Amino acid sequence: MSLAGRLELPDPASARVGLPAARHPGLRPTPPWDDPALGEIIVPASELQERIGVLGAAVTADYAGRPPLLVGVLKGACIFLSDLARAVGLPVEVDFMAVSSYGDATRTSGVVRIVKDLDIDLSGRHVLIVEDIVDSGLTLSFLRRNLLARHPASLEVCALLVKDGLQETPLDLAYEGFRIPPEFVVGYGLDVAERYRNLPFVCEYLEGEPAAGGR
Ligand code: 5GP
Repeated sequence: MSLAGRLELPDPASARVGLPAARHPGLRPTPPWDDPALGEIIVPASELQERIGVLGAAVTADYAGRPPLLVGVLKGACIFLSDLARAVGLPVEVDFMAVSSYGDATRTSGVVRIVKDLDIDLSGRHVLIVEDIVDSGLTLSFLRRNLLARHPASLEVCALLVKDGLQETPLDLAYEGFRIPPEFVVGYGLDVAERYRNLPFVCEYLEGEPAAGGR
């Protein structure tokens, strides 16, 4: 990314240290989430909350004296953003945008359309994009270019989940939650046809990647 948009932070990469690799073989959703389409739990609820506490503390330290504007990408990031915002001890502001990707049945093409734009003007603001999951990284790359063009004082990214090995461009994430295997997952904001967003954990979806992978 352009250096022009970066903060002069002490070390935003501190949150990258000890990045957990998530996978819990044999751990399965229990009732009331007893659904045959749900496979192994990739990140249990307790680990999500613990890690979000760490991310929130890092954001709090890095942005002391310049509270960020958290920009959530709907709808997937809404649950993560809600928990992250409460883990940050600064008077953050919050705004949302919604995008839709063009692509074939299973892959994002990187051509992204803004379905709902931000309400807040970004110029001069310290913007932190809050993303649910990074797969190819193409959506994020579009968002960075688009938001940088609005002249924020700084622009960084906090992504909860990063799929191993699928990125076509360097991600340059200031804050990362978990590395996960390259499987289609649901829960904690991630859906299939609007279902499963309210699972408090992230788990494998066994029926394959749906034609319209949700936002
Ligand atoms: P990318 O542009 O990085 O390939 O795709 C990012 C977007 O695709 C995410 O914001 C999310 O909406 C969707 N996505 C990618 N992987 C998954 C997944 O495993 N499960 C769900 N539900 N959505 C995904």
